[in-house]
Amino acid sequence: MGDRYRKFYDDNAIVSGINFSDNELHIKREKQKARELRHSSWWKKKIAKGICYYCGRKFKPSELTMDHVVPLSRGGHSEKINIVACCKECNTKKRSCLPVEWDEYIESIKKSGIT
Ligand SMILES: [Zn+2]
Repeated sequence: MGDRYRKFYDDNAIVSGINFSDNELHIKREKQKARELRHSSWWKKKIAKGICYYCGRKFKPSELTMDHVVPLSRGGHSEKINIVACCKECNTKKRSCLPVEWDEYIESIKKSGIT
């Protein structure tokens, strides 16, 4: 009971960005979880499909990277629902873009993807 309450409280503090050191701790913890997920059969199956979540092109499993849809720095978690496989190009692009620019990029992919 107590633990569950504490977790709820922690998450809220992170999302509202009250405390910077809390956020750093959050990122550290979630990165560790991501490392563990990388070894899971769930992840191996995901990359075995070889499809980039964003651009939808096909790649070798070794060319796919792990990406958090909601970045850890913005309160995202290393949960299966928030983790996707994407190509290096999309990953790099996402990191260098503002959220708005990234949305535009995804839109342009979707439009050009219709063949
Ligand atoms: Zn891609």
